[in-house]
Amino acid sequence: MRLKGKIALVTAAGQGIGQAAAMAMAAEGATVLATDVNADLLKSYHGVANVQTAVLDVLDKDAIAKQVASMARLDVIFNCAGFVHNGTIEQAQDEEWNFAFNLNVRSQFWMIQAAIPKMVAQFEQDGRGGSIINMASVCSSVKGLPNRFIYGTSKAAVIGLTKSVAADYVRQGIRCNCICPGTVDTPSLQDRINSYADPVQARKDFINRQPMGRLAQAHEIAPIVTFLASDESIFATGNAYMVDGGMTI
Ligand code: NAD
Repeated sequence: MRLKGKIALVTAAGQGIGQAAAMAMAAEGATVLATDVNADLLKSYHGVANVQTAVLDVLDKDAIAKQVASMARLDVIFNCAGFVHNGTIEQAQDEEWNFAFNLNVRSQFWMIQAAIPKMVAQFEQDGRGGSIINMASVCSSVKGLPNRFIYGTSKAAVIGLTKSVAADYVRQGIRCNCICPGTVDTPSLQDRINSYADPVQARKDFINRQPMGRLAQAHEIAPIVTFLASDESIFATGNAYMVDGGMTI
């Protein structure tokens, strides 16, 4: 029970990595608020111990602020929401860029900005601040991947955002780290595979870019989130953690 007594908020927890991380943190004793824009997906938590749910669109700044303000305390945030656009810089559209930066980066800025005063106050009261975990990707400033211009640029911004927050609050009990998964077999990856002319070949291509010769499962990404949420990682801040099946060897 590494997270007993901690209150955690997870965005985009309806499926995929967010769901796996919410479940893993609840299993470790955290009280988890699993949020998602899609209310139907949150029904999967019905009857799961230690999990409450709330509809939250992370593109809505006011909704984020209200959600955070409504919580008695907040020890852990996992900012998981994000979207992948395919294409090169020549193919990139302004609307796609704006959407990606709003969802992948600005939502984290809003969430963290709303939560910091609460976490700093907690630290001043009882010495327990907070741990913020942001979803980046190995496709970022870590590694350039073909046809991921907007996505890779936005996830590089997540790493910069993470380090900036870590630097500013390192003495106020707030840790801020990000994680950089390789390719994970989630519903949205399957959607993307299905959008190719030859989905069978597309899946093979995704697998081939993974040195281990397979995709990750979402539950294989969750443990790094649990670790960063827990006090086991108490001396770790400002880092980007690869969980990429060897893509950066
Ligand atoms: P997913 O894309 O399958 O699920 C995304 C979830 O986000 C859905 O439940 C959806 O309803 C929710 N969502 C969408 N818009 C939202 C909004 N405005 N507000 C709140 N929730 C919203 O999940 P995934 O593939 O596990 O991806 C999650 C994160 O992990 C993303 O940031 C993604 O970039 C990142 N990531 C994924 C992979 C991968 O290969 N799957 C690899 C590296 C990083």
